[in-house]
Amino acid sequence: MRFFLAFLLFYLTLFADVNTDTLKRADTNSKSDSKSEVVRAYNDYRNVYIRALMKDDDKLCRTCLSGLIKTGKKLHIDVSNYENKLKKLRIKKNKLKKKKSQKKLIDQKKPPKRLKKSISSKNKLKSIRWKDSQRLILSFSRNIKKSELNRFSLNNDKIKKYKTIYDIYAVLTQKTMFLKHSSVKKIRLAQFDQRTLRIVFDNDSKIKQQYKISGKELTIKMSSENRELRYIPLKYNQLKKIIVIDPGHGGKDSGAVGYKKYREKIVVLQTSKKLRDILLQRGYTVYMTRNGDNFVDLRKRTKFANKKKADLFLSIHANSVPKRNRKKAQGIETYFLSTKRSQRAENTLKAENVDISKMEKSGMNATLHLMSREKIFASNKLAIDLQQNMLSSLKTRYKHVRDGGVRSGPFWVLVGAEMPAVLIEIGFISHPSEAKRMIDHRYQKKQALGIADGVDRYFAKNP
Ligand SMILES: [Zn+2]
Repeated sequence: MRFFLAFLLFYLTLFADVNTDTLKRADTNSKSDSKSEVVRAYNDYRNVYIRALMKDDDKLCRTCLSGLIKTGKKLHIDVSNYENKLKKLRIKKNKLKKKKSQKKLIDQKKPPKRLKKSISSKNKLKSIRWKDSQRLILSFSRNIKKSELNRFSLNNDKIKKYKTIYDIYAVLTQKTMFLKHSSVKKIRLAQFDQRTLRIVFDNDSKIKQQYKISGKELTIKMSSENRELRYIPLKYNQLKKIIVIDPGHGGKDSGAVGYKKYREKIVVLQTSKKLRDILLQRGYTVYMTRNGDNFVDLRKRTKFANKKKADLFLSIHANSVPKRNRKKAQGIETYFLSTKRSQRAENTLKAENVDISKMEKSGMNATLHLMSREKIFASNKLAIDLQQNMLSSLKTRYKHVRDGGVRSGPFWVLVGAEMPAVLIEIGFISHPSEAKRMIDHRYQKKQALGIADGVDRYFAKNP
């Protein structure tokens, strides 16, 4: 174990150096007059930014975001998303500053005891799971004693900040993890020091919990007083899943041009990026078929997902109808691949510029017949989870969210995927009020959260 920790520390320092070097290079390249060097700088900033997100390093995030905005503007890339994020982080920083000066106000209910040092350090966290939506169960590699656990609370009524912290004498062999439960704002699991695993429950109202140790398990029982209970069962192994997000269109192909000339390729990329960040934060491995406004051939998209050995392929699109009908069509739809198609699917295919007759001639049907029933079934199940969770996430803040349902249709972009694959039409960009929402970053975030919840849900049921 000591060896492991030494390695971990080495690895982290190495990572830190890589980041500093990359940033130095990006800073130099960003000032260049050559477009390709600015592109390189932009990519460097983005790579470090993703690492910073995973490490939860706000300072590094701010540095990268400033770089992304500066170089993005030079390259005429839409950086409004990054600008919003930077603004939020700056507000957070100022709040933290304020909080520091208020720190004395925090009443420590029980001062943390020193954990006994004599205990062997070989206790590993083996698994985490939710049971009956109320209990979080942590299993360790050996029996835990009462003296190895320390729970305390940090509460401040004035600023409405409530924390309950569990320090356990154990080792987390993963990166920092975030869990979800409807009764608390944030649950974070991290290695606090070489010996201590720390779980922090963060909330804006008092946290009521009970815990129990028995054998190798620690059970934390959440309060049952919460009105709406939305939980996502979580299994340790889902963190190894790989997801490919495919923002539709791009470059010369702008996709649908909707209300007020909003363009599909831009809106779907913005939503996809938010989804990427959330999934990364939840521990998934995520790849995008495009990160910028570039053209990607349809067939290359699923090929890319196959190459990455993805567990899921999510193609993100926006729907549209001709102007004369624009007020009639709205809503969110999720499609999975099949030869059967409804009239609605047919209209969507038209909106996506798919030439159906050409498709039939080119042997689409033959390809589809080769697809296993199992995969179609899995894609159908995935589509249902995504659709449900998108709707429930959006309905927490927005009225009149339309459910277009789960449908099947012959979409080229899904053909050839070796994993469950769906196409999400995040809304009708042609509809005046829906389009206005779709370009709004808060709406995009809610939608992305819903998709991520759907992904969690799918893996919880289909590990
Ligand atoms: Zn599209």
